[in-house]
Formats: sequence, structure tokens, C-alpha cells
Amino acid sequence: MILGNYIDGKWIAPRSGATFQKHNPADDRDLIGEFPASSAIEVQEAVTAARRALPAWRALAYDARAAFLTKAADRIASRQGEIAAALTREEGKSLPEAAGETGRGAMILRYFSGEGLRSVGDVLPSVNATTMLFTERVPLGVVGLITPWNFPVAIPLWKAAPALVYGNTIVFKPSEHSPMTAQMLAEVFHEIGLPAGVFNLVQGAGEAGKALCAADGINGISFTGSVATGKAIARTCVDRGLRYQLEMGGKNPVVVLEDANMERAVELTVQGAMKSAGEKCTATSRVIVVDSIANEFVKRLVTRVKQLEVGAGTDAKYYLGPLISGAARAKALAHIERAKEDGASLLCGGSAPERADLSNGHYMAPAVLDFVQPTMSIAQEEVFGPVLAVIRVPDFDAAIRVANDVDFGLSASIFTRSLDKAMRFVREVEAGLVRINGETAGVEPQAPFGGMKNSSSFSREQGQAAKDFYTQVKTVSMDRAD
Ligand code: ADP
Repeated sequence: MILGNYIDGKWIAPRSGATFQKHNPADDRDLIGEFPASSAIEVQEAVTAARRALPAWRALAYDARAAFLTKAADRIASRQGEIAAALTREEGKSLPEAAGETGRGAMILRYFSGEGLRSVGDVLPSVNATTMLFTERVPLGVVGLITPWNFPVAIPLWKAAPALVYGNTIVFKPSEHSPMTAQMLAEVFHEIGLPAGVFNLVQGAGEAGKALCAADGINGISFTGSVATGKAIARTCVDRGLRYQLEMGGKNPVVVLEDANMERAVELTVQGAMKSAGEKCTATSRVIVVDSIANEFVKRLVTRVKQLEVGAGTDAKYYLGPLISGAARAKALAHIERAKEDGASLLCGGSAPERADLSNGHYMAPAVLDFVQPTMSIAQEEVFGPVLAVIRVPDFDAAIRVANDVDFGLSASIFTRSLDKAMRFVREVEAGLVRINGETAGVEPQAPFGGMKNSSSFSREQGQAAKDFYTQVKTVSMDRAD
């Protein structure tokens, strides 16, 4: 089955006939489908369609646009099982996680259907007594959404929902590793009768994303993915005068202090590191633990990690499924080899499981490395796999220093009962998302999401922060005619 792009309200086969295939990461023999490898021509057609649709869409009353979001939420909820199954089949995460993500997609749409009713400007005092001075927010215009495969439902929707409610039109370029859920999202917008051209889908790899940044008529790019790609996109956007927003990697720490609830710290560290096979930008990848409890903590941590079963996401008994690709697994395993060469101790996992039922998937046993030094590459570089580095430190001050000694700053967590230390952590840790006694992963649609340093472009997504990206401010001054 060859699937199409969704442009101007129609499903269109690729003009060039070029396609790419997507297989199931749990079983390489399972071909999910063949999708358009879109060229700059199709991308430009989509942007032109979005441009044409813009005046009528932005002219609609707010509640008419919001009604489409509510309908899309209902439609996603009614297709939840089917979308979750497709998500697990193409991405690999467990079915409950996929169902949770799909449910969250509906929640995001509902949240933003209400968000658009809030203030879109301020009234300001003017130096002239008769002047009425105020701001009004207007849509950015045509926005390009370039997204990764690890949350193929939630991430596109947390970009698309605010874009739509504030009156923008969209060209969506999903990851080449998650084309099926992207197709389903486009189907949902088609099924609810969204006007043609308001939401367009172009499938393809990096070249299609590049073409989107270069297309005539695009006003902004919202991107989630790797640092290298994000920076390349930023350069293009600066040259072209486009607005951009980047969400990139993380090297997220958990700090465990001597007064922590150890059971909770172990469980939530494992959950943050190993759920979704560690393929979350907010995944825990470093655990920084004070020396006085390090031996006990590591012992309990390794016992728990060894209990985690690896297997197909369709079977609820497995904690983690496969990685997205053979290349992703090879990269994670290479990180582990390098860490061992650098002097870290591998305490468990870190290899492909030798089970016949897993031999056609990109599985990997979850790994814990101890005695990691903050300067080692395993403590600095994002792995994006089920790999946890333990860094032992003498005290809280050293823990904060190590936590901050990386180029990333997405999320960070501390386990402690000390109010003073928790408060200092909140102030001093360099991260956009800070958790006290919680896991590093997990977001809520009403709260701003984003990081510091190389994790983000100083922008925030979701919540009311989304308005800053998807709208522009006009300052208006009105006076009497006479
Ligand atoms: P990941 O490692 O998560 O796949 P990437 O940054 O490679 O991260 O991909 C994230 C998204 O960016 C994907 O949709 C991908 O196709 C797209 N992409 C990759 N290269 C480029 C590029 N040069 N310009 C625009 N988009 C790109």
C-alpha cells in the first residue's frame, strides 16, 4: 500500500513516485507501509495551499476554530485504540504508553480549544489622555512543524493545536520513522471537515524538512529533534527572517540525597530512565547520588533494573520495547563501550538480549553504569536509549555542580526531604523543567515546556507560552477624528 501526502484537503501520491518504507522496530519483517519521499515540489505545493487557506481561517471567529479542535479531540478519543496500536507498531513503545500518549493528544486539543478564549492583548495607559493604546495578537501565518518519532502523536498536536486556535495554517513534516501515526492525524483533521489547506501533511526525511524551511510563503518553523538539525534549521531561519522555535536534547539528572525516600527515588529514576526505552528528551540519563548512600542506592537500582523485562510493546508484561532502529541501538551500545573504555563499570544490561523471539527487533537490555566521571562522554552526550549513568558525589554542592556541568538543560529532579536543599535546587539547577521528588519525564499541556542551554532556543511550548510563538503582537493607538 502506497500512502499519500495530504495537501489542500486531498490525498496525493508523490509526483516523482519516490517512496520510503517503514518497518516495525519490534520485527523488521513487518512492513507497515510505503510513504511519499516528498521533494521540494510537494513541500512547496503544501505551503502554497496553506497560504491560500490562511485568510479565511484567520478570519473565522475564535469559537469556530476552537470547535474544530474539540471535534478533533473527540475523533482521536474514538480512534484511540487504533492510533495507539499503530504508534506501538511503528515506534515500539508499550501499548499502555501509546494509549496514554494518544489520550494526551485529545487532552492537548481540548486544552487549546479553551486557551484561545483568553486574553490576546493588553490595554495600556497613554501619554495622551484621549488616546486608546492597546496590543492585539495576530497569527504568525503559515507555520511548518518538523517533528521527531518518539512522541509522534503528542508533539505534533502540541504544536498544531495552538497554531490552529490562534489562526495559523500548517504544513506538517513528521519524522520518517513515524509516518503512520502522522497519516492518522491528517485523517482525523480530514474526517472532522477542517477546511482544505489549513492542515497539510508532507511525508519524507530530512530533505523534505529542509525544503520546508526554504519554501516560499512560510513564516515560522517549530522543530523538535536533534541539536545538529535544530541548529541547521535556526541558521536557515535567521538568514530568511523566519521565526523559529527549537526543542532539542537533554542529559537530564536525578539527584539523590541521604534523606531521600530511597524506594521512591529508585522507582522513579528507573521509570524516568527506562520507560519508552529511554527514548524521551526528558528521560533520566544521569543519577547523581551522594557517597553516604551510594552503595545501597546502586544495589537497589540494579536489582530493579534487572527485573525489567524487554519485549514487544504489544505484550503488557514488558516494561520496555525495542529501540527505534538498528542504528539507534548500535549508537547506544557504542556509548556503553566507550564508557567502559573510559573507566565506568557496567553493572547490568547493555547488550542485545539473546532471545529467539526478539531476534528480528532492535532490542537492548537496560543498562546501568557506575563510577561514571562527570567528564566522560557518557556523562555529557545524549544517548537516547535505556542507559543510566551513576555519578557518585561527596555532597549536595558537588551534586549541583555536576548536574549543571553539561551543555543541556531540559529537566532535572531531586529526591530529598530537605526543604532548604529542594529550594536551593529549584533556584540553582540549570533546567527548564525542575522536579522535586518526581521523575524527570512527563509534561502537562497547561504548563510551559522547554529547556535551557542547548536543549531549547529560549522558547517554550504548550500552556499559555505557546501564544508567544504562534502569534505576533500589534501595538495599536486609536484617537478621535476631531
Ligand atoms: P532524530 O535523531 O530525533 O531523528 P533529527 O533531528 O534527525 O532527530 O530529526 C527530527 C526531524 O527533523 C525529523 O522530522 C527529520 O526528518 C527532520 N530533519 C532532519 N534533517 C533535517 C534538516 N536538515 N532540515 C529540516 N529537517 C530535518
